Amino acid sequence: MTVPSTPGGVLPSEVVAALAQAAAMQATPEVLYDLIRRQTERLVDAEAFYLALWDPQTEIIHFVAHHDRGELEGAFDHPLSDGPTSWVIRNERSLRFDADRPLPTASRGSVFGSPERSVSGAHVPVKFGDRLVGVLSAQSYRAGRFPDEAVQVLEALAAHAGVALEAGRLARAAQADREAAGAELAAMGELRAQLDRRLRELDALRRTAHELAGTADAQATMRYVAEEGMRLFEATHAGVVLIDVAHRTVRHAVAINLSPEYTSAMDAAFFGLRYAELLLGGEVVTVPNARERVIPGLTEHILAAGFVSVIALPLTFGEEVIGVLAFGHDRPRSWEPEEIALARAFADQAALAIGKARLLDTVTRAKTEWQVVFDAAPSGLAIVDAAGNVARGNRALARLTNVPLAGLNGRALASLFPEWPWGAEDPLPQARSGITVSRLMPVSAGRVLVITLAPESDGRVVAVLDDVTREQEALEALRRSEGRFRALVAAAPVAILTLDRDGTVNAVNAAATSLLGVSPGGAMVPLAELLVPGERAHVEAHLAAAFAGETRECLARLRRPDGAVREAHLVAVPLEERGGVRTVLALARDVTDEQALREQVAHAEKMVALGQLVSGVAHEINNPLAGITALAEALAVDEHDEGTERILDTIRREAGRAARIVQGLLLFSRQRPLERRDVDLNALVREVVAVAPPGEVSWILDLAPSLPSVGADPDQVIQVVRNLVRNGTQAMAGRPAPVGRIRTWVESDVVCCEILDQGSGIAPDVLGRIFEPFFTTKAAGEGTGLGLSISHGIVRAHGGEIRAQNRPEGGARFWFELPHATPSRPR
Ligand code: ADP
Repeated sequence: MTVPSTPGGVLPSEVVAALAQAAAMQATPEVLYDLIRRQTERLVDAEAFYLALWDPQTEIIHFVAHHDRGELEGAFDHPLSDGPTSWVIRNERSLRFDADRPLPTASRGSVFGSPERSVSGAHVPVKFGDRLVGVLSAQSYRAGRFPDEAVQVLEALAAHAGVALEAGRLARAAQADREAAGAELAAMGELRAQLDRRLRELDALRRTAHELAGTADAQATMRYVAEEGMRLFEATHAGVVLIDVAHRTVRHAVAINLSPEYTSAMDAAFFGLRYAELLLGGEVVTVPNARERVIPGLTEHILAAGFVSVIALPLTFGEEVIGVLAFGHDRPRSWEPEEIALARAFADQAALAIGKARLLDTVTRAKTEWQVVFDAAPSGLAIVDAAGNVARGNRALARLTNVPLAGLNGRALASLFPEWPWGAEDPLPQARSGITVSRLMPVSAGRVLVITLAPESDGRVVAVLDDVTREQEALEALRRSEGRFRALVAAAPVAILTLDRDGTVNAVNAAATSLLGVSPGGAMVPLAELLVPGERAHVEAHLAAAFAGETRECLARLRRPDGAVREAHLVAVPLEERGGVRTVLALARDVTDEQALREQVAHAEKMVALGQLVSGVAHEINNPLAGITALAEALAVDEHDEGTERILDTIRREAGRAARIVQGLLLFSRQRPLERRDVDLNALVREVVAVAPPGEVSWILDLAPSLPSVGADPDQVIQVVRNLVRNGTQAMAGRPAPVGRIRTWVESDVVCCEILDQGSGIAPDVLGRIFEPFFTTKAAGEGTGLGLSISHGIVRAHGGEIRAQNRPEGGARFWFELPHATPSRPR
């Protein structure tokens, strides 16, 4: 800095030295004021003094201080005015006033607030170079105190003051600059620290993200997150808790500096905590001082764990909160929003990695399980690629194909088998087109495989192979056994039927079709049609019980489509199926002949007993009857009056009738052996018809020309023919021009004779009784009821049969058969 020249030599050297020193020491305006005032008082006779600084920027005059008759007044500011200080500032020249030299300004000002005005004085500009920096003024209450010399001294002092003021100002400005620079530096340091921290945090985040992106192990990931977070937040405790919201379970997967007692207590209490809801809602929870709260059951564990403050961060994966990441500090700690935001960013990264790792874990486990199942499956499995080669095969496939496991991959599927037998019918392309195909495939040593090819994606096919040799053998055996069973059923002498709930009967075997009288093709018959009306109710009741699960048996009379009635013994067995009994199996035996035989035996026994009785009675009656007849004959020889003659005639007639009855009875009960001869049945028929009363009935004979003779007692056989002809004649009595018909024919080993009439037939309710002795429907005197029973006895004695039937066109049909070849054939 160049020191401006001072007005020449007006100042003593010690004053100059003091001012120079002040300048060198960069004194403040206040210090300088004091120095200049003291020097002024030494050199000038003044009672008042002031120093003002001019700031051209603000146009404010700063009065540093002033003295007035020994009184010091403090600083004040004042704007430019029309006073003497402002005049000096405006004109930059000194202004002197005295009693005879008034001020050129409008006001003298009341610069120092004194009511008394100074009389003489000077105001001089303080300049540094050309620049005005202030105004210095000294004044006196007396006139004539400021001659030119005094003004020069003041100007010299002002010159030095200007330098010193500027030096001080510059020095202070420099200082202020230095200080400002220092503050800036300090601020920069803080920024730098923040930047460092942010960089560290970013680095931790970056490293975490990087580390986590590569990790596939959920447990390791969680551990890494906990440890890295502890470093980042300088935490002393950390935990990762996994939450299964669906099952409301919680598990500490990672616990650092946390005892098992704490973690298990926390896991158990979690869902009951107030914070749980916030965390599950995705909010961060901070507890600056955990010791200020009491959580029943947890507080003691928290105290034992040793952490004081906690931050708990939800781990959100997708939409779901999968866990909580928590850091603890062993001192109270509050969290700034920025820190929380950082912690949240960190937790989000971690959640992403944990979620991903958990997903990967699940997928990996599923894949491993799939591989284990695939490899260990009992069926041969192969994944066949689009080229038809095995991409992966299992051990069972290796076993089935006799190819080592290692050799399976890459081989064409068809090449694994000695022959792939389908040629153009190859199932592989079919499966590739989207259809699942199953085929039987005979392989070596009589073995049979079943191969199933199921389409997969991208032209791949899954092949499943099973060795079904044993099943095939079993199937074959089953087929054979079923065949035998079928043959057995078909040939069984017992009719086998099935009955359905809808009331249809199905004939299963030949015996059944013959029993029902249906053709084998149309074997389904409604049950209702099959049963004789009177039988329906009780048979249906038995069948209902069978449908309810009971085995029942009963007798049933069946009417066949041809009208014939057969009696059957039924055993109805329920066939249990899934969902109950839907079908009843019935075993039926035709017992018609058996029944007839039983009836015949009973009849024969009855006949024998009756014969004995009748024979005894007849013999007893015969003798008195012979006496009555003889006596009546004897009396008839004599002459009698007309009345007596009539009585005798009646006696003779009735006795004759009684004798005939007795003869009939004896005939019926006769037990004498048959006197067999070769008998021509046709001749017997002609003989009977020849003696029949003429004109009553025309008998048409249809006699087989070469009828073999039968070994029979002709007297008895003619009796049979006579009885049947008589009955036919009686049945047609009263009809106009009645015609009867007699036919003979031969049938294997029997000779048959049939007598047909045009009468009214036999009433159904008596049809079963007409062969009983003394059964008659005729009026007393017309019939004895013995004709048919005697005939029956005779025919049976010859080993033959006699039957009666109503003719569909009306009238009755009687026929009997006698054995012709071997008379003694047992029947
Ligand atoms: P009777 O002729 O004395 O009655 P039968 O033993 O010969 O005794 O016959 C028994 C019954 O059989 C007869 O009463 C009659 O009801 C019935 N009957 C026999 N033959 C015929 C026939 N041709 N047509 C109708 N009913 C007959």
